[in-house]
Amino acid sequence: MTDGFGAVSGLIDSYRQDMIGRMKEMIPIRAISPSSGGEGELERAMFLDKLLGSWGIKTRRYDYKDDTGAIRPNIIARIGNAKKTIWFVGHTDTVAEGDRSLWKGDPFCVRIDGDRMYGRGTNDNGQGVMSSIYAMRAIKESGIDTGYNFGLVLAADEEVGSRYGMQKLVEEKGLFSKSSDMFVVPDWGNDRGDIIEVGEKGLLWLKVTVKGKQVHASTPDLGVNAYRYSIRFLYEADEMLHSKYGKTNSLFNPNVSTFEMTKHEKNVDSTNIIPGIEVSYIDCRVLPDYRLDDVLCDIKAIARRFPQVSISIDPIVREDPAAATQADSEVVRILASSVHRLKGIKPRLMGIGGGTCAAFPRKKGMQAAVWSTEPDIAHQPNEYTRISYVLGDAKVFAHMVL
Ligand SMILES: [Zn+2]
Repeated sequence: MTDGFGAVSGLIDSYRQDMIGRMKEMIPIRAISPSSGGEGELERAMFLDKLLGSWGIKTRRYDYKDDTGAIRPNIIARIGNAKKTIWFVGHTDTVAEGDRSLWKGDPFCVRIDGDRMYGRGTNDNGQGVMSSIYAMRAIKESGIDTGYNFGLVLAADEEVGSRYGMQKLVEEKGLFSKSSDMFVVPDWGNDRGDIIEVGEKGLLWLKVTVKGKQVHASTPDLGVNAYRYSIRFLYEADEMLHSKYGKTNSLFNPNVSTFEMTKHEKNVDSTNIIPGIEVSYIDCRVLPDYRLDDVLCDIKAIARRFPQVSISIDPIVREDPAAATQADSEVVRILASSVHRLKGIKPRLMGIGGGTCAAFPRKKGMQAAVWSTEPDIAHQPNEYTRISYVLGDAKVFAHMVL
């Protein structure tokens, strides 16, 4: 390792207490998507923007207005005088805490226990945000002339599809280019830090609305039980999807497309009411071997088997799969060699059920690798990350640009 790296690495270690303090300040700013009834994303972005400014890092803002009228903030920063840029992409938004009774302590107040930092968003994506900004701070403070520019993207709206985040940023003229920009997305990984994600499945979230006729439960003949037809439809759709889209692809884990019924909206208030409307959701993650249009078309065909009710199928999130980033691409080679030098392990490559911010540059033909050292605990109660993971990953990122 070069002396330059020794200096940068020492700086990163010296940020330990500061980083913990900033995590404690950031997590209470709840950055839940407006579409999930939340707020705080803008405030969190402003907090981070100010922090970067205090380190002498110039930022640019790309703010987009969403369909609720809320401002969705994106922060871009770049340092260095090199030709090419490695961008580190974190997202500022988080999911809600879920059932509070499952949390030990307040989910929005960071609790430190040894090496662990507990709290909603500490891992997803507080860790990626912190490792990226502290790596950047170290590069800036060291004053080293790096081989690659260090680019930072703090994106909005990742948890509900990135429509006002990375998806829009890759469309901005003159911001990124295929010849000079590559991406690292620290938003997925394992505790060993030995997997680089290079491909993602297509993502299709469907809202299924079944409309019948609500009546008293004692007189079913006068109505149409939407719940019954919802169950029948979901069952048939589930059977069809798993048999028709059953191909395996060994790059991916799991190695098949997945189709899961997930959220279910509340219907009626009483046991003696036959529901007239049933709303449920299906989460589909489809191997790049298939087209999402075909999946959607087949599901709609099943819906037509139930003329007794009206069934509408609405995609609420749709991400067609992008071609995987090649194993011998520049970003994968640099990342793998940094991981090897710093952690002494040779990472393996894998495709996952996505979707992260990496899908958007990949769709534009740009290289993107997803990697971090993290416990598999995103979206769960008692979410945590480790202080050592944040600092260790920051060193890997800093090393990449040297
Ligand atoms: Zn995330």
